[in-house]
Amino acid sequence: MARSLLLLAALCALAAAASAACPNIISRSGWGARNPTATTQLSKKPTPYVVVHHGASSSCTTQSACASIVRSYQNQHMDVNGWADIGYNFIIGEDGNVYEGRGWELTGAHAPGYNTQSIGICIIGTFTSKLPNTAALNALNNLIECGVSKGKITAAYKEIGHRQATATECPGTKLYQWVQSQSHWTSSP
Ligand SMILES: [Zn+2]
Repeated sequence: MARSLLLLAALCALAAAASAACPNIISRSGWGARNPTATTQLSKKPTPYVVVHHGASSSCTTQSACASIVRSYQNQHMDVNGWADIGYNFIIGEDGNVYEGRGWELTGAHAPGYNTQSIGICIIGTFTSKLPNTAALNALNNLIECGVSKGKITAAYKEIGHRQATATECPGTKLYQWVQSQSHWTSSP
């Protein structure tokens, strides 16, 4: 009896460890996405780059508020920018959730020169003078780990901020400093 309980506990621990790297990902239907008007596969898989963004918008701490902001990003990208879909591969809220944008397989529209070979991840909010909360930063790191474990991102990936790809304030000075402190950040992507 005691032995089978121990075995059960060990199996549960193993199962927890195997899934621990992947955060909760809210599907497109879960946040009410519109369909893309076109899709293009990433040309480099697994991707060698992760590009970090901020949305330069207000922030959110509940799933309903974050889903609403993600829908507003998609409307802006499709109706104003004329893009085929929301630009990012994933979007993260300070509710700790990850929202599926173009996902692991499709080329995004977020960082010129890197779209076909990166996963673009945007944290909802404006991070020029404050950091995203711990829930959002943990979700970002977990999502990247998850991508590596699924073979979607190379193990030796380079992590950069949007401003390294083009002239922009994105991902906000405070968040960019945090990106620079990460072990996969590079000054010369
Ligand atoms: Zn950006």
